[in-house]
Amino acid sequence: PAPANEANTVLLRIVPYGDGQRLLVARDVSDQKRLESTRRDFVANASHELRTPLTVLRGYLEIMNEDAGESGALAAWQRPLREMSAQSQRMGRIIDSLLRLARLEAEGMHQRQEAIDIGEMIRQVVDGLKRHEARDHVFELDLQPGLNLYGRASELESVIANLAANAARYSPAASTIRIAWQAEAGGALLSVADNGPGIAPEHIPRLTERFYRVDSGRKASDGGTGLGLAIVKHSLEHHESELIIDSEPGAGSTFSARFPHSRLIIEDAA
Ligand code: ADP
Repeated sequence: PAPANEANTVLLRIVPYGDGQRLLVARDVSDQKRLESTRRDFVANASHELRTPLTVLRGYLEIMNEDAGESGALAAWQRPLREMSAQSQRMGRIIDSLLRLARLEAEGMHQRQEAIDIGEMIRQVVDGLKRHEARDHVFELDLQPGLNLYGRASELESVIANLAANAARYSPAASTIRIAWQAEAGGALLSVADNGPGIAPEHIPRLTERFYRVDSGRKASDGGTGLGLAIVKHSLEHHESELIIDSEPGAGSTFSARFPHSRLIIEDAA
C-alpha cells in the first residue's frame, strides 16, 4: 500500500518464456523510487544550505587576501590565504554542480523546451572559453548552418560547455580542439575532439559516475569537480541521447552525442 497522497509505481516487463510464449512480470518499485527521491531531496537541500555559509567565508577570505597582498598585517599568510581561496572556490563549484545534478534528476522531461541554434550556442561557449580557461587553445569548428535542435537551452549549453572545457583542461596548451555539429543518417551528431593524453579503456565506462576522476590527485585550481560528465549524461538523457566516448591513450579523445531526427528542426537553405 502507498502512503497517503502517494501513488505506487509498478514496472511491467514482457519477457520471452519457452517456445514462443511470453511472460508478463510486474514488479513494485515504489520503495526504491521513494528512496531515490529522498536522496535527491537531501542532496538538493544540503547543497542549498551549504551555499550561504560558504559565501560568507569567501567574502572574508577576499578581504584578508587583499590585506595580505598589500603587505599588511597578514603578509606572512599570503600563500595559505591564496590556497584557502582556491579551495573555497572549488567547494563552491562542487556545491553548484551537486545542486544542478539533483535538479536535473528531479525535473525529468517536463521543463520548457524550444528550438535551439546549436551552432550559435557552440560559438558563444567557445568565445567564453577563449577569454578564460582555454586562452591558448586553437578551436576548429565545423558547424552545419540551419540545423536546430528542439530541447532545453540550459541543459544543452552545459553539455557543450562541459565537453569543451574538459577538452581544454586535459589537452596541452596550443593544441587543437575540434567541435562539429552535423546532420547524419537518422539524426545529428555533436562531437568534441581533443589531442590530449587519451583515456585507458578500463576508465571509460566509469567516467560519468559522480566524482569519478582518472587522476584523483589533480589540483584544486584546475577547475574540475568530477561531476561534469554526470551532468552531461543526465542532460543528454533528457534529449533521447547518450554520451559516446571514443578514446585511446596517446591518441586524444572524442566525446560525442547523437540526437534523433525527431528533435531536429532543419531550416531551408533558401
Ligand atoms: P572533472 O571535473 O574531473 O573534469 P568530469 O566528470 O568532467 O570531471 O570528467 C571525469 C574525468 O574524466 C576527469 O577527471 C578526467 O579524468 C576524465 N576526462 C574527461 N574529459 C577528458 C578528456 N577530454 N581527456 C582526458 N580525460 C578526460
